[in-house]
Amino acid sequence: MPGELDYVRENYLRIRAAVEEAALRCGRDPNEITLMAVTKTVEERIILEAVAAGAACLGENRVQELERKREALSKSEAFRSAAPQLHLIGHLQSNKLAKAVACADMIQSVDSLRLAKALSEHCVKSKNRISVLLEVNVGADPAKYGFAPEQLKEELHEICQMQGILVRGLMTVPPISGNLRDTAIFFSNLRKLFLDFQCKKMDNISMEILSMGMSHDFEVAIAEGATLVRVGSAIFGKRDYR
Ligand SMILES: *Cc1c(COP(=O)(O)O)cnc(C)c1O
Repeated sequence: MPGELDYVRENYLRIRAAVEEAALRCGRDPNEITLMAVTKTVEERIILEAVAAGAACLGENRVQELERKREALSKSEAFRSAAPQLHLIGHLQSNKLAKAVACADMIQSVDSLRLAKALSEHCVKSKNRISVLLEVNVGADPAKYGFAPEQLKEELHEICQMQGILVRGLMTVPPISGNLRDTAIFFSNLRKLFLDFQCKKMDNISMEILSMGMSHDFEVAIAEGATLVRVGSAIFGKRDYR
């Protein structure tokens, strides 16, 4: 008998197949691409459907929501045995960073030198370590958080001195554009920066994850080198922010 939540599995498997096809089209190994299910505003029982369908990486924008959902989901035996990763992908205020370190497997939204430093200091003090991505504002959009690409080249030398944080790659949210060709240029620019950093051997930095692409542009992102795509509405449907 079909269940009311079957659409989640169907959507997840369809997007998973589209990710694989996009990878094969450009001669890439589909296994090197992680499909993150972005679960902001999505209820726990619906998230569990995605996990059952194979989602091994979940993304949340807000620390409190991530913390609350991790606690609630952990009551499920299926969730505990699947043990998906939970990443923070939204802006982190410094007064919440201790909580973020405690409940996130990765913070993809480290968007300033100040935040990187505060995270490092917290981790050193609390004898913790956290994997992070550096969020780059590829479109120089004044309304967006993130490092300016040119500035990051300088700042990376400072960041690599910071103990307690392990920089594992770069993340971006490009400016909204009706034209996927413009978006492709932003993705391509981020990849150039990523490859540039990969060549430099620096302490605490291992450039392996390139997080870019969402529901409407993940195929473009894969063609431009993404190793992690963050897909929400194409899996769960339109978000209800009430
Ligand atoms: C919400 C969100 C996504 C997912 O967006 P969709 O368009 O629903 O796929 C990806 N990345 C970030 C940073 C987000 O906030």
